Amino acid sequence: MSTYAPIGLTGGIASGKTTVAQLFRSWGAFVADADDISRHALDVGTPCYEQTVGTFGRHILLPDGAIDRKKVASIVFSDPEALAVLNGIIHPYVHEVILTDSERVFSETPRRLIVWDVPLLFETGYDREVGKTVVVTARQSLRIQRIVARDGSTKAAALRRIRAQMPDREKVKRADMVIRNNGSLEELETRTREVFDELLETMDR
Ligand code: ATP
Repeated sequence: MSTYAPIGLTGGIASGKTTVAQLFRSWGAFVADADDISRHALDVGTPCYEQTVGTFGRHILLPDGAIDRKKVASIVFSDPEALAVLNGIIHPYVHEVILTDSERVFSETPRRLIVWDVPLLFETGYDREVGKTVVVTARQSLRIQRIVARDGSTKAAALRRIRAQMPDREKVKRADMVIRNNGSLEELETRTREVFDELLETMDR
């Protein structure tokens, strides 16, 4: 008999957690992706759409009725209170979607691994709602290289983004399992498979 215990997956910027999540998914896990859900939170038809237009006004709408994300971003960029209001609309929605989707998957396929891919897993308290936690880490120099290659930002800007987050050593202290992504993509896949198999075994116990 399987019990409902999602896996929390996290890691700092450019650690490789999206790559790990994709591998988990390719091996059959259900992955709830917090970033992806929040990217779609303001789409037409969501409860967040209605609340955001109700709160900020119809001037944030584009002619086709969609929310002008650039306009919203420019409002909250210079107004911390507006940012808190927007977060207060989006975060509970993301949480609700993660829970509802995961519970549905569990009721349909109780033996399927359920993974919550949440960049701020520890910072936002999601870690208290999951079974095991998995942290992906990588050396700072590698993360900088990967951010520069991917986003075209400067090394200094990449370093600032890394330093704005909870340090890896703190995440590692809190994690049940760690995937150190300091080698090739093949090595990452091998280690991720070990972790995946161990998580499946734990489910069977
Ligand atoms: P973010 O939090 O910034 O979205 P992330 O932690 O999800 O990043 P990924 O998107 O998986 O990280 O990886 C960041 C970039 O580094 C990607 O372009 C990915 O292909 C590359 N990458 C990840 N691991 C390796 C590796 N071991 N070797 C080479 N490239 C890698």
